Amino acid sequence: MNKKAELLYQTKNYFEQQAELGLSELYLTKKKIKKSSIGSNGDWGNSKTLDELNSKICDCTKCRLAKGRTKFVFGVGNPKAKIMFIGEAPGRDEDLQGEPFVGRAGQLLDKILAAINFKREEVYIANMVKCRPPENRAPETDEMNTCHPYLLKQIEMIQPKIICCLGRISGQYLLQTKEALGKLRGRIHNYNGVKLLVTYHPAALLRYPEYKKDTWEDMKLLRKEFEKLTA
Ligand code: URA
Repeated sequence: MNKKAELLYQTKNYFEQQAELGLSELYLTKKKIKKSSIGSNGDWGNSKTLDELNSKICDCTKCRLAKGRTKFVFGVGNPKAKIMFIGEAPGRDEDLQGEPFVGRAGQLLDKILAAINFKREEVYIANMVKCRPPENRAPETDEMNTCHPYLLKQIEMIQPKIICCLGRISGQYLLQTKEALGKLRGRIHNYNGVKLLVTYHPAALLRYPEYKKDTWEDMKLLRKEFEKLTA
């Protein structure tokens, strides 16, 4: 895709997302994620706590993934977390337990967090979609479009200072780009006024240990940025 087509594609996607959220104003802010009019989109939009939001959306049937789920995987962690990790989609273990990143990839994520001095309870962990895709395939764009308002509402409520996207799927979706992960990682992006870093997905590290070195560089950068933002 050439630069102009890429820009048009990103702009079109951006406005589609805004329309989907029923937003009447541009979702662009410098510091705080603006309290948007997500509330006009349904009762869940007025939720005051994450637990309330979860209880209002956990029976969602808006996309095809609902049919195959055992449990809705809302997200887990500190509701006031200054840092959020966003993966792709629940896998088998997550679908059975109703919690993100509890399988092998999750155990590696816990080790990564510990290596940069974060406890799992201190951060917030969520996925692009809340229901497990069949055979662990990547979530499709329309599934992410459908689920994205829920994630946006979580981000709006938590107000993290920095977001770490685990893997290409969440990184490309949130940044609205098709740029390769190798190009997206290693630097700090701006996501609606919030810092955002993309790194390898822990499941990719289990398959390709050679990515661990770059991931470690990303994690050091993440911790450094976090220190600056919370000093
Ligand atoms: N992979 C993800 O992206 N998310 C999970 O919750 C588990 C595995």
